[in-house]
Amino acid sequence: MAVTDDGLCVQNNEVMRRAVEYARMFGLVVMDHCQDASMTKGAVMNDGYWSLKLGLKGWPAAAEDLIIARNIVLAEFLDAHIHMQHVSSAGGVELLRRAKKRGVKVSGEAAPHHFFFTDACCRNYDTNFKMNPPLRTERDRLAIIDGLLDGTLDIIATDHAPHTEDEKDCEFDYAPFGIIGLETALGASLETLYHSGKMTLPELLSLMTNKPAAIVNLPKGTLTPGADADIVVFDPDCPVQVDARQLQSKSSNCPWHGHTLRGKVNATFVAGKLVWDGETGRIIHH
Ligand SMILES: [Zn+2]
Repeated sequence: MAVTDDGLCVQNNEVMRRAVEYARMFGLVVMDHCQDASMTKGAVMNDGYWSLKLGLKGWPAAAEDLIIARNIVLAEFLDAHIHMQHVSSAGGVELLRRAKKRGVKVSGEAAPHHFFFTDACCRNYDTNFKMNPPLRTERDRLAIIDGLLDGTLDIIATDHAPHTEDEKDCEFDYAPFGIIGLETALGASLETLYHSGKMTLPELLSLMTNKPAAIVNLPKGTLTPGADADIVVFDPDCPVQVDARQLQSKSSNCPWHGHTLRGKVNATFVAGKLVWDGETGRIIHH
């Protein structure tokens, strides 16, 4: 449904150009993890005040902005669709905003951790706040929210990345990038975007349902008669305290551990079949 080299951003502009050209022939979108590798060698967190204070190598937002700018230039040149994965920088949001105004076929996504946390969360060297792209500043966090509010960022995606406790339980420099976010995505998004009064419930849900489906041309994410009955039944107001050990994921690398998020899932249906029963807290295998 799409082409991506997520995690290994395409560095060579000509390779990216050809990839986008070929994908276009099949009507496929190319999704990119925007990171200039030459500027981020050995980097483990956002480049700024906290990386300096903690003595950790910084991953500058400019390294993300450069590739977003490159992708905008190529999308315009080739009249093809390029999607920016997990945009984390204020500069990246602004570049996308201007490109979209000109009608360039670009889209972008935000991950809940990027609009919930900042790089200050790394202050205790907790590796559950180490991900790629990294948590950035409060200014970036607010820009991501503004991007979602004005449609510059099209969707919310988790960038869910499980790692064992063993892998994450080491020095910040050596820990793998990535956190789990699937089971907390709804609560974290409701808390930041809906309970804050920034968005209506339909606006928020659209960012997690029909809009992501539309980017990859899947006829999903609606309750239209005849559509696949992939349905989540939830109470948006019910508070849930996140306990990383109680999650269904086999991994517990969850930065929301201990947080109380409003939004409790009562039931999940896939293709009309109940697969998660919130009452018993059980996954149902068919
Ligand atoms: Zn990525």
